[in-house]
Amino acid sequence: MPLPITRLRVAVPVPLPRLFDYLNTPENQPAQALGCRVRVPFGHRQLTGIVVAVDPAPGDNQGALKPILQWLDSSPVLGGELLDSLYWLSRYTHAPVGEVLSTALPALLRQDQPQPDTTAWGWQLTGSGHAGLSHLRAGGRPRRLAELLAGGLLAEDVLDARLPEWRASVRDLARRGLAQRLPLTEPALPLDSGPGPALNEQQRVAVEAIQAAQGFSPFLLDGITGSGKTEVYLQAIQHCLASGRQALILVPEIGLTPQTLGRFRQRLGVPVHALHSGMADGARARSWLAALRGQARVIVGTRSAVFTPLPNAGLIIIDEEHDASYKQQDGFRYHARDFALVRAKALDVPIVLGSATPALETLNNALAGRYAHLRLSQRAAAAAPPRVRIMDMRKRRLHDGLSDQALAGIAEHLAAGGQVLVFKNRRGYAPALLCHDCGWTAPCLRCDTPLTVHGAGRRLQCHHCGARQAAPLACPQCAGLALQPQGVGTERLEERLQSHFADVPVVRIDRGTTSRRDALEQALGELGQQPGILVGTQILAKGHDLPNLSLVVVVGIDEGLFSADFRASEKLAQQLIQVAGRAGRAQRPGEVWLQTHHPQHPLLQTLVNGGYHAFAHSEIEQRQAAGFPPFAHLALLRAEAQQAALANAFLEAVRALLPAQQAVEHYGPMPAPMPRRAGYQRTQLLLSCSQRAPLQRLLASIVPAIHALPEARRVRWSLDVDPIDLY
Ligand code: ADP
Ligand code: ZN
Ligand code: ZN
Repeated sequence: MPLPITRLRVAVPVPLPRLFDYLNTPENQPAQALGCRVRVPFGHRQLTGIVVAVDPAPGDNQGALKPILQWLDSSPVLGGELLDSLYWLSRYTHAPVGEVLSTALPALLRQDQPQPDTTAWGWQLTGSGHAGLSHLRAGGRPRRLAELLAGGLLAEDVLDARLPEWRASVRDLARRGLAQRLPLTEPALPLDSGPGPALNEQQRVAVEAIQAAQGFSPFLLDGITGSGKTEVYLQAIQHCLASGRQALILVPEIGLTPQTLGRFRQRLGVPVHALHSGMADGARARSWLAALRGQARVIVGTRSAVFTPLPNAGLIIIDEEHDASYKQQDGFRYHARDFALVRAKALDVPIVLGSATPALETLNNALAGRYAHLRLSQRAAAAAPPRVRIMDMRKRRLHDGLSDQALAGIAEHLAAGGQVLVFKNRRGYAPALLCHDCGWTAPCLRCDTPLTVHGAGRRLQCHHCGARQAAPLACPQCAGLALQPQGVGTERLEERLQSHFADVPVVRIDRGTTSRRDALEQALGELGQQPGILVGTQILAKGHDLPNLSLVVVVGIDEGLFSADFRASEKLAQQLIQVAGRAGRAQRPGEVWLQTHHPQHPLLQTLVNGGYHAFAHSEIEQRQAAGFPPFAHLALLRAEAQQAALANAFLEAVRALLPAQQAVEHYGPMPAPMPRRAGYQRTQLLLSCSQRAPLQRLLASIVPAIHALPEARRVRWSLDVDPIDLY
C-alpha cells in the first residue's frame, strides 16, 4: 500500500526562527521519518533539512506546499535526548532551530551525503592459531601478537596502541591461517586495561565518589596541574565501560594532542573515537555515527563533540572546563561546558568538570553546593610544585623584554641540563611600528588598531582582520626614517634568545608556527630531552609533558593587569597558573619567574602567596559586590554595519522593543570596546539581570520582533546569551 501524503515540518539551516512545511514524497520514505534528513527546495536553492514533525492531515493549503526533493536517510540522524536537548539549546540561545540542528550534525551530514559505513574491524586467532600458538618463535613479533589475540577479538585501533608494528605480523599469521579479520558487530567490551599507577588517597576519594554516583551528579574535580586528574578520568571511564555504557570526554582545542589520545587508547582497551576540527569530514562523520549506533564507547573531542549522540550514556567529562575554546564565539554561540551539563541532566548521568583553575562560575556553583567539590591538592608522581617569584622590572635594563637576571637564570638552568619556557602572550615581532620622530603608529585602516610587526620588522599584519602589508621604509606622516618596532612579541624573543644562547635549540610555538595540531608535537619531539628553550604564547600552557622543564619565565603580563574587561583578571590568573604548572612536572624542581613593573599589584600578590583559590575567592566577592556574572546574567546584542548610523538605528529599534519597568537592565546602544573591525562599525546593547528567568522571558518575547525589524536587514547582528567576551 503506498504511503499517504503527509505534511512534513522541516528544520532548515537558515537564519529564520521558524520551521518550514513540505509535502512528503512516499517513495523511499523511511519507516521512521522523524529525525531524518531531507533535501528540500528553498527559494532558488536546495538545502538539507531535518524532519521534526509529521502531520498526517496535510490540510487545505496542500496545493501551496512543495514536495521534498529526496529522502537522504533510511534511519534518523537526530532523535531522543539529543534532539530534545537541542530544542532546549535553541530556546535558550534564541538561535534559529534549523541552524542549531544543522550545527549539531557533522559537516558531511549537513550536506546531501549518505550516512557512511561505520563497521570497525578486529582480529582473532583461528582454531589452528590457538593450537599452533606455542610453535611460534618465543619472543618474536608474530608470537607476541598471537598471545595478545589469544584473549579474544581485538579491535584494530586497540592493536595500534598496544603493538605498533602489528600489521606486518598479522599478515604473516593470516597467511598461515592462524588469524582472521572480523567485523566488530557488538560494541567492543573493555579487554584488559593497560596498567595505571596506584592512586593516592585524594585520587581514590575522587574516583570512588564518581563511581558511586547514581544518575545526574555534577562534580568539580579541582586539582592543581600534575595532580593526576587524568588518572581519575581514566578510572571513572573504566568503571563506565564495565557497566556497558558510553563515555564522552571534551578537551580544549589545544589540549587534544596525539599524546592525549594515545594515553586514552593505551589504557582503556576499547577503541577511542576522536572528534575534532583537524579531522577529515568522512572520519568525523564516522565517529559521530558510530556513537549514534552505540558502537563507539569512548568519544574524545573538542567543543563541537558536545553534540555527539549518546544512546547509551554513562559519563561525561569536561577537561580544563575553564577553557575559553568551549565557547563558540561566532555564528551560533553556544557554550559546550554549559550544554554538556544540560545533557548530563537529561541523560541522568554523572558529569565531571576538571581544572586546576576552575572558572569562577563553576567554582561558585561548587561553593554553593550545587556541584560536589573534589580536591586534588598535591602533585602525583612525587613532583613538587614550582616555586614562583615576582621579578621587579622597574629601572632594570631590558634586552628585547628580558632582564639581565632572566638571561642569567636561563643560562644557569640550561647549564644544569634543564629546559626553559619563555612565555609571552603576544605573537609576532612587536605589537606596533612606531615613528620615533613624530609618534605615528602604523594602523590597520579597516580596524583603527595598531598593526603587529612580523618578519623582524619587514611585514605588518592585523591580528583582528588578517590584513597584511609590507612595512613602509619611511614614515608616511613625516617622511622620517626612524621607524621602530615597539614592544615585544614571541618572534622578537626568539631572535634575542637565539643570538644569546647560540649553542642550544630555541623553538618558537605560537599560532604562527602551529597551524596544524601535530606541528606542536613535532616541534616538541625534535627538542626531546636535551637542554633548550621554548618561546611561545599560551598554546604552550597545555599539551605534551615536558619532564625536563625547570624554569618558566613570564615576560610582560602588565597589559592584563589593567584591562577594562571584568573577566581580564580571571583570564590572566588562569593563564599564569597554567603556564607555571608546566615547570617541574617530574623529579627536577621547577621555578617560575614573573617579570613585572607592578610587583605590588594585588592580583600578583594574592596569586603568588595564596594560589588560585585565594585569588578566586576574592574575585568572586568583587563580582558579587559589582553585580557581575555569576551574580548577574548577561545577553549581548551586537550590530555591525559599514555606517555606524545603521548599526545604531538597529539597536535603538531593539531598545524601543524593551518593555519599561522591569527586572532586566540595559546598557547602550554604545560603541563596542573595539568600535571598528574589518571596515565595519560595531555597536552593542547589553542586557543584564540578577536572575536568569526574567532575562530569558524578555528575550523570548522580543527576539521574533527583532527578526522582523526593517532595520535588521541593513546590518549584521547577533545575540550572545552568557557572553564571555564583550568585544
Ligand atoms: P593532571 O591531569 O592533573 O595534570 P596527570 O593525570 O596528567 O595530571 O598526572 C600527572 C603525571 O603524574 C602523569 O605523568 C601521571 O602518569 C602521573 N600520575 C598520576 N597519578 C599518579 C599516581 N597516583 N602515582 C604515580 N604517578 C601518577
Ligand atoms: Zn613620523
Ligand atoms: Zn584589521
